[in-house]
Amino acid sequence: SGDGLRTRVLELLEMVGIAEPERRQRQYPHEFSGGMRQRVLIAIGLACRPALLIADEPTSALDVTVQRRILDQLDELTAEMGTAVLLITHDLALAAERADRIAVMQSGEVVESGVAAEVMRDPQHPYTQRLLGAIPALNATTKPPREASTDVELMAAVDLVKVYPTGRGATFRAVDNVSLIMPKGTTVSIVGESGSGKSTVANMILGLSEPTSGTITLDGQARPRDRAGLKAFRRRVQPVFQNPYASLDPRFTVARSIAEPLKVHRIGDARSRLTKVDELLEQVALPSAMGSRLPHQLSGGQRQRVAIARALALGPELVVLDEAVSALDVLVQQQILDLLSDLQQRLGLSYLFISHDLAVVRMISDIVHVMKSGRIVESGPPAEIFDRPQQDYTHELLAAIPRGV
Ligand code: ADP
Ligand code: MG
Repeated sequence: SGDGLRTRVLELLEMVGIAEPERRQRQYPHEFSGGMRQRVLIAIGLACRPALLIADEPTSALDVTVQRRILDQLDELTAEMGTAVLLITHDLALAAERADRIAVMQSGEVVESGVAAEVMRDPQHPYTQRLLGAIPALNATTKPPREASTDVELMAAVDLVKVYPTGRGATFRAVDNVSLIMPKGTTVSIVGESGSGKSTVANMILGLSEPTSGTITLDGQARPRDRAGLKAFRRRVQPVFQNPYASLDPRFTVARSIAEPLKVHRIGDARSRLTKVDELLEQVALPSAMGSRLPHQLSGGQRQRVAIARALALGPELVVLDEAVSALDVLVQQQILDLLSDLQQRLGLSYLFISHDLAVVRMISDIVHVMKSGRIVESGPPAEIFDRPQQDYTHELLAAIPRGV
């Protein structure tokens, strides 16, 4: 019945740890943070008390603290119900921490399987050994520190605030007085748990969302608000998102997707754009034959290369990478990070790098900002943030990283 159903929905939301289920059940997915959406999916998966739950990358998009909370909850609930879990993940350390047994797949085949602790301690197959070797360790090297006195400011965000209306006159401050400066040619990162406001900051800097208050300047000039000005601004500031499936039109060939920004900005003619596409493919180390493929005919890593080529089409100065390598397995992730640092050196690009993965952030950043509940709580070079975190929250983030067994 309607009432019984409603009660059960509230029960399920409560069970997966969604606060205020009465209010939350009336909301839409876009009003939820990634972590909350994932909790809802778990509630749906467990609603009929299944004997087997297949969880395909259930927390890959989430930061480590939320990941830990959600997986703890999943463990607890499935133990209670006697549900078996088939956990599919690209994160070997996570698998080792959560699974009883691990099967390692490569090119459609299981190449190794066994008790989790044994596979981690003594991997037999070369592919497993490579996977283990590529886990970015937190004690890995960081970028050499820069001489800050030579910095030239490219972008500055000052006192950014974003307030969302949440219905019935209520509001929510998703971003609360965030300020950051991007020196030219550097990588500035934002880390923080999901829902902390990282993407909201990114979208305001990209000009995809209007700040409630605060200013964004590029080369000292305020971001224009008129259409023509905004278009010119967007040429200089380009995005790469987590899911290239969502940002690449599935019906467009790779070449058409990469050429699209050129067309929108009326740069060149059809012929010269084709030449430019070839150049861009070469820059991201893809053969020009890839141009005629459709997105579903590419691997995840190739798709992300295409997304990067598209972002570079207009010759931007700032590239905003929002969880751009989060969905990739460690080997492909390493290749994309290498490509990004190579492009940065060759083209003098500046990156605003947003990630929930602290190990990756540590490797590639010049400056790190830690965000929590819409505010920046700690900032500094990676060596300082990671080795001498001042805030409890940063400690907590560092402690929640799965390290295998
Ligand atoms: P992050 O990228 O750090 O995971 P987001 O910037 O996506 O976080 O979201 C920050 C907060 O703002 C979350 O609590 C989210 O629920 C909320 N939020 C995001 N978009 C909207 C919206 N359109 N309406 C209401 N709340 C939103
Ligand atoms: Mg986000």
